[in-house]
Amino acid sequence: MSTLIRQFSPSPPIRTSHSHHLPTPVFSSPTSRSVPSRKAHRRIQICKLGNFLDLKPESKPEPLHFDLPWIDPAARSRLDVIIIGTGPAGLRLAEQISSYGIKVCCVDPSPLSMWPNNYGVWVDEFESMGLEDSLDYTWPMTSVHIDDHKTKYLDRSYGRVSRKKLKTKLMENCVSNGVKFHKATVWKVEHEEFESSVTCNDGNKLKASLVVDASGFASPFIDYDKPRNHGYQIAHGILAEVDNHPFDLDKMLLMDWRDSHLGNEPYMRVSNSRFPTFLYAMPFDSNLIFLEETSLVSRPVLSYLEIKRRMVARLRHLGIRVKSVLEEEKCLIPMGGPLPQIPQSVMAIGGTSGVVHPSTGYMVARTMALAPILAKAIAECLGSTRMIRGRPLHHKVWNGLWPIEKRCTREFYSFGMETLLKLDLSGTTRFFDAFFDLDPYYWKGFLSSRLSLRELALLSLSLFGRASNPSKFDIVTKCPAPLVRMMGNLALEAI
Ligand SMILES: Cc1cc2nc3c(=O)[nH]c(=O)nc-3n(C[C@H](O)[C@H](O)[C@H](O)COP(=O)(O)OP(=O)(O)OC[C@H]3O[C@@H](n4cnc5c(N)ncnc54)[C@H](O)[C@@H]3O)c2cc1C
Repeated sequence: MSTLIRQFSPSPPIRTSHSHHLPTPVFSSPTSRSVPSRKAHRRIQICKLGNFLDLKPESKPEPLHFDLPWIDPAARSRLDVIIIGTGPAGLRLAEQISSYGIKVCCVDPSPLSMWPNNYGVWVDEFESMGLEDSLDYTWPMTSVHIDDHKTKYLDRSYGRVSRKKLKTKLMENCVSNGVKFHKATVWKVEHEEFESSVTCNDGNKLKASLVVDASGFASPFIDYDKPRNHGYQIAHGILAEVDNHPFDLDKMLLMDWRDSHLGNEPYMRVSNSRFPTFLYAMPFDSNLIFLEETSLVSRPVLSYLEIKRRMVARLRHLGIRVKSVLEEEKCLIPMGGPLPQIPQSVMAIGGTSGVVHPSTGYMVARTMALAPILAKAIAECLGSTRMIRGRPLHHKVWNGLWPIEKRCTREFYSFGMETLLKLDLSGTTRFFDAFFDLDPYYWKGFLSSRLSLRELALLSLSLFGRASNPSKFDIVTKCPAPLVRMMGNLALEAI
């Protein structure tokens, strides 16, 4: 593993360069006040609720400083592929396609901006692609608090992606492979028989044999032929400087399902029992930690305010006092639901292509691994030896990303999501108790979307065999409808 990856580093891996001023205390001492007016009372309530929520993030991720080769739209040069978006998916695909000598242009309103999200991945996933030098912190183990009495220690290391290193690496490869960039927002995509074009907000129109949409979850460019019944992962995350925290520095906390912090919060306790959330934490040192209160999946989506309130109660109970918030993220990830219509004239990758894991919301590692496969399919059509364009091209690339076997396994992962949606806190914790007791080959494979249909069937049998009686009851009573739906969808895929 690269020496760039720091384990048990004594100093925090990231520090903002400017000095941190200590925030003014958020709780005014009640004894120092006379009876507050209604307005003042409301303000106190807000502060009380706000706690760390009142702290404004102190830094914004710095943009990259890079000399990008811009396209000259007036030159009307012939492009093979236009990629909309320079997020992790768009840049990885551009890097891979351009390595075949194919002419690529990436369009993004801000190609050099740093990606906003804090990405976590399993280290073995990045190692298998030679991307481990793009992690800036790793933990040799992960832990899961099932409840107050049971903690599981997982022998699988976890890493935090260095957005700067990964984006720089992908950009450098793109530039050396001849990828061009255009700084604009795509407004419209149009198609002719053998050519597509994008119209941008700066009035420019670019043409290419293929347009790939990598503009993320909110994309308007992809068509669906089935109702989009997503579940949603919603989370509130902060990279924070804290007085101290109770977590081991050599373990990434994947899930903390304990609910003892809600003992004095009857309303939240009831709501958490029905729609549970957990804490996800990356401890960098004893004073620097990334904390995220997460609803694994809900439909309709759980209220963001509710998530923040639960996080305040949890941190208070854990004795974590936040001194400053360095970064803040609102995470909202659509999960599951139908795949885009296959094929269609725009190709897709990343958040808009259905590759997000329906049961976990993870996507970055999978997209890094799928981009080379999609690039190969594109090169087989547009590379120097063949010129397959129009419908045969769209057919080939969509089936390259989503061959039948993968569509079927996705149905299975979506069934996992539908099952999780039906479980309350007790059902969820019983489920993960049994899940992490499985042979590691299965739980690791499930979380990394790499099990075959047969292996997924074996996993289900094994999970059922290991489940406690209440869990078996949950499965038998709550899963028939999602199971029937999955079988129906599998049958449709097989036709
Ligand atoms: C807060 C958060 C945390 C996450 N954490 C993880 C994690 O830890 N691990 C994990 O595996 N996954 C995680 N995910 C899920 C997923 O991996 C990310 O959403 C990931 O950023 C998706 O990558 P993307 O390239 O598809 O889209 P994005 O990262 O959303 O990038 C899209 C790009 O397209 C550009 N764009 C958008 N519209 C247009 C347009 N019309 N024209 C031109 N450009 C456009 C945008 O400017 C942006 O640069 C997280 C998601 C969120 C929201």
